[in-house]
Amino acid sequence: MSQIQEGGDGNKKPVKKTPNDFMFGKVIGEGSYSTVYLAKEVETGTEFAIKVLEKRHIMREKKSQYVMREKEVLMKMNHPFIIRLYFTFQDTDRLYFVLNYAERGELLDYLHKLSSFDVPCSQWYAAEIVHALEYMHSLNFIHRDLKPENILLNTDMHILITDFGSAKILNKEEEIKPEEEHHTQRRKNSFVGTAQYVSPEVLTSKQVCSSSDLWALGCIIYQLLSGLPPFRGGHEFQIFQKIQKLEYEFPDGFDPLARDLVEKLLVIEPTQRLGCEELGGMEQLKSHPFFEGIDWEHLSEQKPPELL
Ligand code: ATP
Repeated sequence: MSQIQEGGDGNKKPVKKTPNDFMFGKVIGEGSYSTVYLAKEVETGTEFAIKVLEKRHIMREKKSQYVMREKEVLMKMNHPFIIRLYFTFQDTDRLYFVLNYAERGELLDYLHKLSSFDVPCSQWYAAEIVHALEYMHSLNFIHRDLKPENILLNTDMHILITDFGSAKILNKEEEIKPEEEHHTQRRKNSFVGTAQYVSPEVLTSKQVCSSSDLWALGCIIYQLLSGLPPFRGGHEFQIFQKIQKLEYEFPDGFDPLARDLVEKLLVIEPTQRLGCEELGGMEQLKSHPFFEGIDWEHLSEQKPPELL
């Protein structure tokens, strides 16, 4: 990893940061390969979340490509609803990713606390996710692991999508191609904890495309309104079978417009999902009546509805 200070907009500046430029505070989270600390930049007093990765652990677990992928993708993005990578640096034993601090934690925690969101909150958070996806896909990135745990919240309760280790960088020519990577991933059982959001084309390992994120969006919208993801089961195998058979039900009282939207996203054929390029792209998704009243241009400046 370069010892050059790199801004999230991809600019490189000849200023080297080191761990000594930050005062490390409490641990705010732990991942399988990382510890995330709250930290203050000494010079400015600005708070950041610093993700610290042990080089030895990453090498031992053969996760270098995920770490590099996350860095590469985050470095190229600058969007109000996507976590921002401000600097990266390293010392002998560790890599450091300096990120914006998502003070309010995970969207999933709020969902657990409230059981489900009302229609205005679901509409709002679905719109923020759509806004971020539109940007991500315009840069030819597919997130591939979109789920409520990977949606963090900033101080103002706007979303910050994180966890880009599984992201795919699409070359235009390979929008849909046999996805060997997923064969490997399945053998390694890497869908643990995420099975509920996996799209059918990923399971059959035939294709991966930006539409896979639209499937996950459908699952998330269903979950925001009902409290649970649509495809559930005791074992991953059961969940996978249900996904492939499109076997799910809406609970009584599910908002009819949201239902219509979810039904247009949870479509087995990726090229028939609302928002995919073949159906006119994200503008079509944003025009769905569920999003009526959303001011797409000014979402990040507005105050999200209160989660009650
Ligand atoms: P795994 O690697 O096991 O999939 P993960 O991807 O969640 O886990 P990290 O990205 O290291 O691992 O995050 C660990 C925890 O730290 C997360 O659960 C998240 O709640 C918290 N976290 C990560 N980044 C931030 C951030 N920028 N601001 C606030 N909290 C964060």
